[in-house]
Formats: sequence, structure tokens, C-alpha cells
Amino acid sequence: MKALIVIDFTNDFVNGSLPVGEPAVEIEPVVTKLTEEYIRQGDLVVMAVDIHEANDPYHPETKLFPPHNIRGTEGRELFGSLGQLYENHKQQIYWMDKTRYSAFAGTDLEIKLRERGISEVHLVGVCTDICVLHTAVDAYNKGFKITVFEDAVASFNEAGHNWALGHFRGSLGAEVKRSDLT
Ligand code: ZN
Repeated sequence: MKALIVIDFTNDFVNGSLPVGEPAVEIEPVVTKLTEEYIRQGDLVVMAVDIHEANDPYHPETKLFPPHNIRGTEGRELFGSLGQLYENHKQQIYWMDKTRYSAFAGTDLEIKLRERGISEVHLVGVCTDICVLHTAVDAYNKGFKITVFEDAVASFNEAGHNWALGHFRGSLGAEVKRSDLT
């Protein structure tokens, strides 16, 4: 059993206040098609979405990044066609707020996966070398099999993106492959 984890594909991260920019815009059709495909197959689909409070003095990211994915803002809504897909399939998608890079940190993701007997996580979204990476590292440490779709992850840092793809493969034993949906 597998689950698709769609990481941080929001307006702020694609072309908003903390933008990946063009590489993220380019993967939009693939992220949406993959999400559609996993819904169609009846797999668990998780939208793992960063949430922050404005000027939170306790959050480490406040010092590191411009404000992004602030609760209740448009920046925190899913980008483009993925947003539309979510609106049409809310019942089949598990929306999961997260406050740290990893989708496992402080969330019930692991419980959701284990109670369904899911042993494999498939990862898409942004950024390859931050939130996707930290989610993959946690998945590895918890013993999940990992697949990363290389044509459905992106970063503002090309060198970091390429390094992370190598790390998924070489150190986390992940399958890194194209979706074949383009
Ligand atoms: Zn954040």
C-alpha cells in the first residue's frame, strides 16, 4: 500500500512570498495529474501544507525566511490546477497542516499511514532540498519505502535540487523516477 504526499504546493511557495518560481510553475501539470491518478486508484493522498502565524517569535523559520503560508491567507492556498482538483475531491484528500519542514514533524501522518497498512510514501512538491528532503529523511528513519517523482519536485536552488535527488537515491534508498505523465 502506498500514499502520495503532496508537499507545500501553495501560492506562496510557487510564485508568492517565498517562491521557487519557474521550476515550480513548470511541474504544476504533473503534480496535478499525479494527484488525480492516485485519487483514481483509491490511494491515500495527503496535502501536507506549511502553516505559520504572522511574526511568531517562537518559530525558527521567522528568522530564516520571509513570512509565508500564514494562516488564512491566499498565499497558503494550493496553486493553480491543484487547487481546483482539491476543491473537487475534498472527500478523497487528507489536508494536513504542518509547522515544520518534515510532513512527519508534529503531525499525525505516521499514524494515518500505519493504521492503513501503508509502507510506501511517494513524494511530490516543493522544495526538493528542504521540505521534500526532510520528509524523505523522516520516512527513511521510520522504515517507509520512498519514491520521489523527479519531474514533480522543484527548488529555487538548482544545485540543492540535484544534490537532494542524489541523496534520495544514494543515501535513502529511494526510487527516483519520472512520472511518465508529461
Ligand atoms: Zn515554513
